[in-house]
Amino acid sequence: MAVLPVRRFPDPLLKTITRPVDPNAPPVRRLIADLIDTMRHHPRCVGLAAPQVGQLLRVAVVDVTGHPKAEQSHGLLVLVNPRLTARDGLRMQREGCLSVPDLTGNVSRAVRVHVEAWDGSGARWTRRLEGFEAVAVQHELDHLDGTLFLDRVVNARTDVFRRQRYA
Ligand SMILES: [Zn+2]
Repeated sequence: MAVLPVRRFPDPLLKTITRPVDPNAPPVRRLIADLIDTMRHHPRCVGLAAPQVGQLLRVAVVDVTGHPKAEQSHGLLVLVNPRLTARDGLRMQREGCLSVPDLTGNVSRAVRVHVEAWDGSGARWTRRLEGFEAVAVQHELDHLDGTLFLDRVVNARTDVFRRQRYA
C-alpha cells in the first residue's frame, strides 16, 4: 500500500476513458488499497479515481465521512466497474478536485442515484445514495470516462472560481 502522486490537469490521462477490470485480480486489490491510502492522505479528500494515479482502469473510492457537506455517509465505498442504474433530481453545487487544485466550479448533478459496482473482495453491491455522497460518486464516475468537473461547468466565466486554499 502506498500514497501515490496525483496527476493534475491538463495531464492527458485525465481525459482518457478507462477500461473494465476483473474485480478479483490481485493488481486491482493493490490499486484499491493505494487509492484509499492516497485519498486519506489528503485532508477533506472524499474520493479518488484510478486515472488520477495514472491507471486507466474502472476503479475508484469514495468516503464522505466527516465532511461538513455530507448529510449522510455509508463509509468507504469501493467502486470497481461502477455504473449508475438510476438518477433523479438536479442540484447545482460547488465542486473541487485534487487533480484541479487551484479551481472550484459550480456543477449540476443528480440529487439521488442508484449505483451498482463490485467491492474490493470481488462482491457485487448496489446502493441508493443521495446528497453530497451521491455527488461524490458521480464526480468519481466521471473520472472513469475522462470527464473533469471543469467539463461540466456551464459557464467558465461565471461558474469557475480560484481556490483560496485547499480545504
Ligand atoms: Zn476529481
